[in-house]
Amino acid sequence: MSLAKGRSYLAIPGPSVMPEAVLRAMHRGAPNIYEGELVDMVPGLVRDLKYVARTEGHVAMYIANGHGAWEAALANTVAPGDTVLVPATGRFGHGWAEMAQGMGIAAQVLDFGRKAPIDAGRVAEALRADSAHEIKAVLAVHVDTSSSVRSDIAALRAALDDTGHPALLMADCIASLGCDRFEMDAWGVDVMVTGSQKGLMVPPGMAFVFFSDKAAQARAGLARVSKYWDWAPRAEPEMFYQYFGGTAPTHHLYGLRAALDMIREEGIEAIWQRHAVLARAIWAACDVWAAEGPLSLNVADPAHRSHAVTALRLGAPWGAALRDWTDRQAGVTLGIGLGMSEPDDPKGTGFFRFGHMGHVNAHMVLGMLATVEAGLASLGIPHRRGGVTAATQVVAEAVQAPSKPTELRAL
Ligand SMILES: *Cc1c(COP(=O)(O)O)cnc(C)c1O
Repeated sequence: MSLAKGRSYLAIPGPSVMPEAVLRAMHRGAPNIYEGELVDMVPGLVRDLKYVARTEGHVAMYIANGHGAWEAALANTVAPGDTVLVPATGRFGHGWAEMAQGMGIAAQVLDFGRKAPIDAGRVAEALRADSAHEIKAVLAVHVDTSSSVRSDIAALRAALDDTGHPALLMADCIASLGCDRFEMDAWGVDVMVTGSQKGLMVPPGMAFVFFSDKAAQARAGLARVSKYWDWAPRAEPEMFYQYFGGTAPTHHLYGLRAALDMIREEGIEAIWQRHAVLARAIWAACDVWAAEGPLSLNVADPAHRSHAVTALRLGAPWGAALRDWTDRQAGVTLGIGLGMSEPDDPKGTGFFRFGHMGHVNAHMVLGMLATVEAGLASLGIPHRRGGVTAATQVVAEAVQAPSKPTELRAL
């Protein structure tokens, strides 16, 4: 039998769960793109995107996914023949480096493996060695979605400042924005890229590139910028169509408006807090399960773990078997082990991931964890029981209880 019928839950690390309000906002006929509601709505989107990114800088919007944002960031700041430094952890840093190479840019990659965050000390060493200042930008992924490692972006700013290196600091916040704390201006980030389909809770299809005045100067110094990727008219349009280099992504914009309304209403600090508590609940469950049997969290130190995604190892083929079980038997779809292949497990079937980004709350996460615990038991995978109990404890302690008996009675 299967117990999967009912509301399903896509618990993969992007695309994330779309709120009903976002879906409803998108369910409409084509709007006029020359005047009226849609045109009037866009300046408010720009304002609220900057609120989420904690910046007073600029933002350019693209009809693209995260890969498009990577290319856009490079197209505006680095010329073919230039060099970028890419401290990479997990999979996505390598992807950004490959994007640079495809544009004729030399990528100097520092590989920190699949479990450790970027080591700012080694980045500083590489910057110090570059006395001719050939490195034009440092490309760092804030949260690597394959490994669930979170790196310290502010430490990279310090590395650039301490070495007196003028390179731009670029951050990929595609997985982290609207989930993990990120402070573009306070952390001295020059360029930040993100997409619509993770913490922003909108379908895939829009990408955002935030940039500082210093990055704008780099753009102005380039001999040539490809017309479509050029961020200048998108950030400072004279005509409405220039925001999007053509027809606006009409329905995405309505969805984004609804999502940003939700974000503003909850408040970005509260959103970070919610993700932090839910992540701790997940880790608490995993720690108990891992006390006996093969399960392990990919990132040992909680300080280096993302609050948006958690990568786990169960050993081949049990990661895939567990995903199959939760999907077919209970309606919960877990993430695959991305970029985690090993010589004896080329497809990475020993790994799986929990996506917990964006529109997620306590009952979704607790339900997912209980489903996983049932799956482990049903499949006969050794684990210590009680993971769900540990997770409920984290949730119970985090939520403030009414302090006085009178308040309790009033309930
Ligand atoms: C999802 C993701 C990407 C790629 O985004 P696409 O929309 O799939 O192109 C890049 N970097 C990180 C950190 C991501 O999480």
